[in-house]
Amino acid sequence: MTTDPTTRESKDFYRHIAQTSDNPLGLEIEQARGVWLYTRDGRKILDFISGIAVSSLGHGHPEVVRAVQEQAARHMHVMVYGEFVQRPQSALAGRLSTVLPEQLDRVYFVNSGTEANEAALKLAKKHTGRHRFLAFRNGYHGDTQGSLSVTGRDVYRRPYEPLLPEVDFHDFNSETVLESITPEVAAVILEPIQGEGGIIPADPEWLKEIRKRCTKTGSLLIFDEIQSGFGRTGKLFAFEHYGVIPDILTMAKAMGGGMPLGGLASSTDIFKAFMFDPPLNHVTTFGGHPVSCAAADTALRVLLRDGLMERAEVIEQTTRKILHGRGIELLRGKGAMLGLQLSNVETTRKAVFYCLEEHGILLGWTLHSNTLIRLAPPLVIEQELLERTLITIRDAIARYA
Ligand code: PLP
Repeated sequence: MTTDPTTRESKDFYRHIAQTSDNPLGLEIEQARGVWLYTRDGRKILDFISGIAVSSLGHGHPEVVRAVQEQAARHMHVMVYGEFVQRPQSALAGRLSTVLPEQLDRVYFVNSGTEANEAALKLAKKHTGRHRFLAFRNGYHGDTQGSLSVTGRDVYRRPYEPLLPEVDFHDFNSETVLESITPEVAAVILEPIQGEGGIIPADPEWLKEIRKRCTKTGSLLIFDEIQSGFGRTGKLFAFEHYGVIPDILTMAKAMGGGMPLGGLASSTDIFKAFMFDPPLNHVTTFGGHPVSCAAADTALRVLLRDGLMERAEVIEQTTRKILHGRGIELLRGKGAMLGLQLSNVETTRKAVFYCLEEHGILLGWTLHSNTLIRLAPPLVIEQELLERTLITIRDAIARYA
């Protein structure tokens, strides 16, 4: 579906912007406010995927916008990361330390999710002196070389091989991984709820066993909460549902309140690996940009103050109540990170396009699954609109089932 491809911007988009597929949605965005996207051709579209789990507070939250404007006026980039005391970075790190466990009381800021995972993999290697990683089929950790090396889909990895050597993949939620966590393993990396793999939550007992094995072998446990973090699942981080604390937590997406930001949290001891032998062995120019950190600090404050994590729980309950019926096989996930498993590709595709074209509801697939509809509305969506939208989605699926 494209908007009028005759506008100047649209022509430049198709002619001069490097494309990621031959079939982009191509909506021409004029403005985005709250749960709504406004297109140049006058349509008002409900963003039911939050820009892929980013806009939890809705688009253009006024307090976040103000924080961005004020910080941009105060200062933007002043120095490479880690040299100067910059108030927004310190404030955000301090606030995060009040909501994260003691073992995760230090944070390294980067610009994106994949950079957070790159840094986490390097940190695990340097801290442990090992270089073997364990990862999971259908996991997704980003598209730079390190993150791609631990991403569990051959079809994405193969064109770029050779990647990192010594990465072993296991089935998610399968016990086979446990005996592979040996003293040669630098780290096990996983999403507590696989996002792009099809919104698949980890089994709580399995996660606890992995934690035990990692502790025993000195392998680090990395949780990628880039998609599941910042309230989306009903807790600030999904690991809180499981009572399992990782050695390294990676985050991004909703973290910046709409601005680009990522980070990894770990302990002082583990982060020492980045300080010495040699110093400056992992640096970034723009990581923790002050404007992004100001936005993130405000976004986190608003998330906690407005009880949006609880709101995610209500979204799940409402969705489970309304979404059942013809064509719907299963509803998976937690909070407002949900996946609707349908019986076939055609029904999924038709229902998604029908919702967009006839009802102005933006839904999506996940990267590794084309029979799953992703549901990830902004946590601020009003209850009445939520219910109405879910009924429309249910009827759309029944129509094509
Ligand atoms: N990890 C997970 C779980 C993700 O869902 C994503 C993006 O979808 C990434 C990593 C990569 O993040 P980014 O696109 O910011 O590099």
